Amino acid sequence: MFTKNQKEILERSNVVLSDHQQQRILNIANNILDVKSLDTAELVDFLTVANALYRGGDQIVSDDGYDFIFLAELKNREPDHPFLHAVEPEAGFEGKTVELPARMLSTDKTYDDEGIKNWINRVRKAADDIGKNFDDLVFRLTPKLDGFAAYDDGEKFYTRGDGKRGTDISRVFERGLTVAGNGTRGLGAGEIVVSKKYFSEHLSPYFENTRNFQASVVKEKELEEHAAKAIRDKAAVFFPFASLPSWSGLAVELMDDYDDVVEEIWNSVDYDVDGVIFEITDDELKKYMGATNHHHRWQIALKSNDEAAEVVVVSVKPQTSRNGKVTPVAQFEPTKLSGAEISRATAHNYGMVRDKGIGKGAVIRLVRSGLVIPKIEEVIEPVTPEYPIECPSCHSKLEWVDDNLFCLNSTACKDQIEKTIIHFFDTLGNNDGFGAATISILNEHGISSVYDVYQLEKHPEKLADIGYKEKTVKNLIEALSNSRKVKIEDWRFLAAFGVNRLGLGVAEKLLQHHNIESIFDLKVDDFVIIDGFAEITARQITEGLQKIRDQFFKIYELGFNLEKTPLITELKESGLLSPVAGKQIVFTGSMLHGKRPEMQAEAKKLGAKVASSVTGKTDYLVTGEKVGMTKIAAAEAKGVKVLTEDEYLNLIKKK
Ligand SMILES: [Zn+2]
Repeated sequence: MFTKNQKEILERSNVVLSDHQQQRILNIANNILDVKSLDTAELVDFLTVANALYRGGDQIVSDDGYDFIFLAELKNREPDHPFLHAVEPEAGFEGKTVELPARMLSTDKTYDDEGIKNWINRVRKAADDIGKNFDDLVFRLTPKLDGFAAYDDGEKFYTRGDGKRGTDISRVFERGLTVAGNGTRGLGAGEIVVSKKYFSEHLSPYFENTRNFQASVVKEKELEEHAAKAIRDKAAVFFPFASLPSWSGLAVELMDDYDDVVEEIWNSVDYDVDGVIFEITDDELKKYMGATNHHHRWQIALKSNDEAAEVVVVSVKPQTSRNGKVTPVAQFEPTKLSGAEISRATAHNYGMVRDKGIGKGAVIRLVRSGLVIPKIEEVIEPVTPEYPIECPSCHSKLEWVDDNLFCLNSTACKDQIEKTIIHFFDTLGNNDGFGAATISILNEHGISSVYDVYQLEKHPEKLADIGYKEKTVKNLIEALSNSRKVKIEDWRFLAAFGVNRLGLGVAEKLLQHHNIESIFDLKVDDFVIIDGFAEITARQITEGLQKIRDQFFKIYELGFNLEKTPLITELKESGLLSPVAGKQIVFTGSMLHGKRPEMQAEAKKLGAKVASSVTGKTDYLVTGEKVGMTKIAAAEAKGVKVLTEDEYLNLIKKK
């Protein structure tokens, strides 16, 4: 059940829950109920409650768990759900609600540099639209405070509320709260924050976390004595965004010094910071870009999504993969990380176990980025590791090959056989009948290769002998023959054989240069001359192809409906290959021929790679109107060919 404090927060937020609902919400928060099993209405209810409790200073899931598990699930299911486009309300506090002097919105967020680049491109486009020179725009970066959002109009003080109406909490200034750096009142939006150092030295025994403390400063009931002292000591303050430490400069300066600038701003204050805010300062452009109901388009936050935990390893279990490589999996007591409960993480290979000392009793630090499986970031207290002697699946003796332990019994190892067949059907992706359970049963009955499985088409009685009912037999046989009849790309078919390093992307690239039947005769050198194949990859692929050669042709000759990848040489001969295929192109300035996104899409269709900024890898810079000479000179200095829009259209034969 919820605590008394949590119930009070929910009451103030007008959320009423039955005991049964409370229990379900706690079960969701504690991962007892899987997020995937919830219907969308219940997911939104959960988000509403989790958010109210978070704002009220008594959260039930971590910030990352909220963002990456629950919010991500809703975004995935219904990107347009109204919940995602409304400002998360601050938990209601006692006091009159009033219209805010200015709207307070949330900030759009991204978790990687790619998201920042995309935003910069949107700024660039908006600048083009209104004839502003992008190269002259000033960008401003500030730390994203993780405090309690509020608004100070100089006389009164408000919570952010729902972004339009907030609660009057002027009492907080009456209690002696000051503006950061003894600044003046009336600077608008900001956050109530507390010094991290002060919190850990003076407040941590009395408050669970800083958010909990911040909420106590705002609450109606009388100020707790330690909170009152923190205010007197000016450790807790209101920090207006306008007076935050900042970096300002041009886009080109920002890009040149990106990592340093971001790090410097991230660490520029002794308050909880959960990101860096990027924004533009040009008022006209800000007005043009405007806002959604949720955030200003001229602003974005770069947030970190790493959460770490230290755990004690209980055991390291070996696991045999389809290629025979034995992977160590560290097991530990169930631990919450980014909102999810986890109890295992892969240690990649036994070389890592050996070098880092991972074993029973070792203390390791785990990191989980977004929804990615946890990884072992550091071994804090190593132990003397132990190694398995035999394969956990077939008990044959394991061998060291470089940094890996291998089971070399590829023809009779249960895990290798079953995982190879599963990989084949998973990669083909057109056959639902053959999941792990079915494949395991078939393997127990001696059907132990993809080829054997397809032989069932001719001998369905074998399935009946195993004990499958007539209808199931019919379904399985149909699934097999369908998987041969449905059209499938030849590179997908090739990748299904699971050759090390020959995944979908590499298979496609390879088949652009060679017919599928001829790849088995290629030498390492033949691969190396294909752009993008490193020698070590080439070696692994040629060796892997030799291993599967016989199996491949037996299966290939069963007759699959393969869609052949066009060879680049054929495309060139027939004139179908565009001169821009494989080239990297950057478009800049306003275009006359069409809107820039359309031209970019067209270039991509012709096989070009479209990039947003000029680097040494750029082949062509296509310049529209209003492009500065410095930009053109800079591109030429990097060896980039600069084309006018007409020259480009000529090149792709559109003029
Ligand atoms: Zn084995």
